Parts: sequence; structure tokens; C-alpha cells
Amino acid sequence: MKIGILALQGAVREHRSVLQKLGAETKDILNPEDLQKIDGLILPGGESTACGKLLVRYNLIEPIAEAGRSGLPIFGTCTGLILLAKHINNSSQYRLGLMDVRVERNAFGRQIDSFETDMSIPVLGDKPFHTVFIRAPYIVQADSNVEILLEYDGKILLAEQNNLLAAAFHPELTKDTRLHEYFLRKVKSAKKYLERGRDF
Ligand code: GLN
Repeated sequence: MKIGILALQGAVREHRSVLQKLGAETKDILNPEDLQKIDGLILPGGESTACGKLLVRYNLIEPIAEAGRSGLPIFGTCTGLILLAKHINNSSQYRLGLMDVRVERNAFGRQIDSFETDMSIPVLGDKPFHTVFIRAPYIVQADSNVEILLEYDGKILLAEQNNLLAAAFHPELTKDTRLHEYFLRKVKSAKKYLERGRDF
């Protein structure tokens, strides 16, 4: 199983080491050609305005959006969630616009820009998951085709829409690999439907 990691900026290394620990092959994505022959894609956290501009500069917006529309499993964390969203409050920044959600950036307010806490995420089992939020966004509104996997205090923090998975927090910064394993299971089941070696 080969997983691409968008490597323009942000927490690339951390995702790479979790995936490798789980036995997946990884490939840094910097050009449209890099999207060929990957089975899934991770959009790491970073800074979404900068990352959107880099996506444009590297001609990656449309190829990634098209791959996502064709069923390539994509997992966005933090900035990755913002890039996946169709709607971003008060912003016209570049995005992939694949998920039927509306996000608010830097949504947790100044005093608690960054924090960590344990959350119960039913799809990951009984043991709480340690979530790390760094100037995090959250989903303020999701269409009915979006499955909400974690919501706290009216804030949607983890959601899924078919082949797309998006987290407001940073699972790659903890030792707990269950969310990456969850994504790899999605990739495995999507592989059954997608031709092996297909060019996205
Ligand atoms: N605050 C960043 C943004 O709006 C996201 C932060 C992150 O990815 N940790 O893009």
C-alpha cells in the first residue's frame, strides 16, 4: 500500500513516520505526476493560506481535487481539513473544496490556541484518543452526507464523507496510531474498487 503525503509544507515527517511504522510505503507529493500509483493521500497540518498558494504554484489543486472526486482516499489533518472544505468562513483562500462542510479557522480563540485533551472517538474503540489542537479549525456545519465521527460542544472535530476523512487535530503528533490505521483500512477497502496502478 503506497500513501502519498503532500510535502509542500507542514507536518510531513511526522505522518511519514507513523505510516512507515504501520508498514505502509510513503511517497512525498510535490508534482502532479507524483499522484500516479498512490493508493491514498495525506494532507498534513501547516498553514492553509500558504499551503493553498503552494498548491496553485505547483499545479496541484486540480489534479488532487480530481483524484479525490474519482475516489482516492484523502485524509486531511488541521490545515488538511481546511483545504478539503468547500466553505471557509470569511476567506476566499485557495482550497480543494471536496467536502460538504463549512470550517472556521483558528476557531478556538486566543487563550487556548493550542491544547491537548483526551477524547472518546467511538469508531476507534473504547480507549480515549489523545487529541492535539494547534491553532485548530473546526467544522461549524456539515451536510447530511457527511458522517460526524467526533463532535464536542457543537464543534465537529472529525468527519468522513465517502473517501474523505478530516480531523481538526494532529493524530501524527501522538504515539496512538489508531486514526492512521482507520485511514489505512479505508484505503484498503477503496483499493478493491479502484484499479491497481490507476493514474489519478
Ligand atoms: N491555523 C492554521 C490554518 O489556518 C492551521 C493550523 C494547523 O494546521 N495546525 O491554516
